[in-house]
Amino acid sequence: MQQSLSRSSLVPSGFVVESAFCNADKTTITVRPSGCFGLCPSCGTVSRRVHSHYRRRVTDLPLSGRSVQLVVIARRFRCDAVLCGRQIFTERFADGVLAPSARRTMRLDCIVHHLGLALGGRPAAGFAKRLMLPVSNDTLLRVVRRRSCPPADQVLAVVGIDDWAWRRNHRYASIICNLERRRVVTLLPDREPATAQAWFAAHPTITVVARDRGGGYGAAAAKALPHAVQVADRWHLMENASRAFLDAVRKSMRQIRNVIGATTINPKLLTAAEHLQYEGYLRREETNAAILALSKNGMPIKLIVRQTGHSRKLVRQVIRGERNDVFRTRQSSLDPYLPWLDEQWASGCRNGAELWRRLAARGFRGSLRVISEWATRRRRAEKADAQNLKRIPSARTIARLMTIGRDFLTKAETVTVAAIEAGVPNLVEAREIIAEFHLMIRCKVEAELTLWIERARASLIASFASGVAKDEAAVRAAIKLPWSNGQTEGQITRLKLVRRQMYGRGKIDLLQARLIGAE
Ligand SMILES: [Zn+2]
Repeated sequence: MQQSLSRSSLVPSGFVVESAFCNADKTTITVRPSGCFGLCPSCGTVSRRVHSHYRRRVTDLPLSGRSVQLVVIARRFRCDAVLCGRQIFTERFADGVLAPSARRTMRLDCIVHHLGLALGGRPAAGFAKRLMLPVSNDTLLRVVRRRSCPPADQVLAVVGIDDWAWRRNHRYASIICNLERRRVVTLLPDREPATAQAWFAAHPTITVVARDRGGGYGAAAAKALPHAVQVADRWHLMENASRAFLDAVRKSMRQIRNVIGATTINPKLLTAAEHLQYEGYLRREETNAAILALSKNGMPIKLIVRQTGHSRKLVRQVIRGERNDVFRTRQSSLDPYLPWLDEQWASGCRNGAELWRRLAARGFRGSLRVISEWATRRRRAEKADAQNLKRIPSARTIARLMTIGRDFLTKAETVTVAAIEAGVPNLVEAREIIAEFHLMIRCKVEAELTLWIERARASLIASFASGVAKDEAAVRAAIKLPWSNGQTEGQITRLKLVRRQMYGRGKIDLLQARLIGAE
């Protein structure tokens, strides 16, 4: 259904356009209310007796790139009710159109509010100017504050609470999130247990409280909501467990120093690299043989590539006999003898010339230089490793070396870890216990917690274990329940972002208004 555009459809409902004129950047529209009576704000009586007229100037949404000023010809009415104390009242307009003594129409106010929520004061003011909305940054912030209302009475059941730095090391505040709806519920001005307790007490519907370990939130929740389940934060549990292992390493540093100082180099570990080289050599030889066999049977390169899965380039190289040179230029003649050389070296024969003579007897055709260079390299490697071994790594490094996978360790590190493992068995036990704890959290098996606590209490990480025992119910809940404070941490990140937009200024109510209102 098409309708011609009437002038009154451009202004808020309930008004009729009297006249409109515009200049370069501003449109002025004079309107009068379409209703013919007023309702007394004190007694609610309908009045048709107009006392006088007056003009209200309010800003409305911009029109065709020009800001709009409405001149409202409003009325004053007389109240005739006998018992009403009010004789004259000004005209009120419908809800959501124009509030009493407002300078903006509601529909403009709403846009201003959302601009303020999204961008904060000063940036929003700059943007508003481009949108032909004449508002200052103070106005924007005022509107955000005024319109911020607590989220409509949602029944809070699962909340997360955490603290955040208002100013690092100076002032902290708390944030409370609705974990089910993934929303910020409120900000508390400090992180005192009493403040949290008062808030919890005012919200008795809460059944689950996720909070970090330590701090007063647990105690506050226990006092105010004795029936609520408390959930320790999984990430902090994992982190504290790792820290407990680091502490165990620190405690064992004296033993570690003794053990590492006394270590002689284990030749088996040192030869690992050469074994790898040898295996690579064997593998290459195997590939070469397979490709050559196929080629001898008259198979074209294309088919060999398809059948073996090797690259065309590699297949061509092998067939032309270039392969060995491409990958291993210098040691290729030595490769087949490496295991034998290792044995000799390990048994104490470290003289290059002597090794070469023995090798030559076994059919080695290379020169003496090849062997003496090998021996030099070998000696240098051992020396470097020995030096690395004498330098005792920090507790943090040792904890890391002991917990990352073997495959990521260098040769010297492997020797160090092996020495510690052999010499300080307590530490190996502690590592196992920590790994079990991590596994329990990852796989959500809380049944083993009691046993774990027993075992851990007798180990190097006893203090961590008794901490867990003290908070056992919450730890158990953390393993079992899906709730975690990770979400709250995420909201804190958002909060910090909003705060940065406000250049770190602004009071807590404004911050809260922006956080909650934006949802
Ligand atoms: Zn009245």
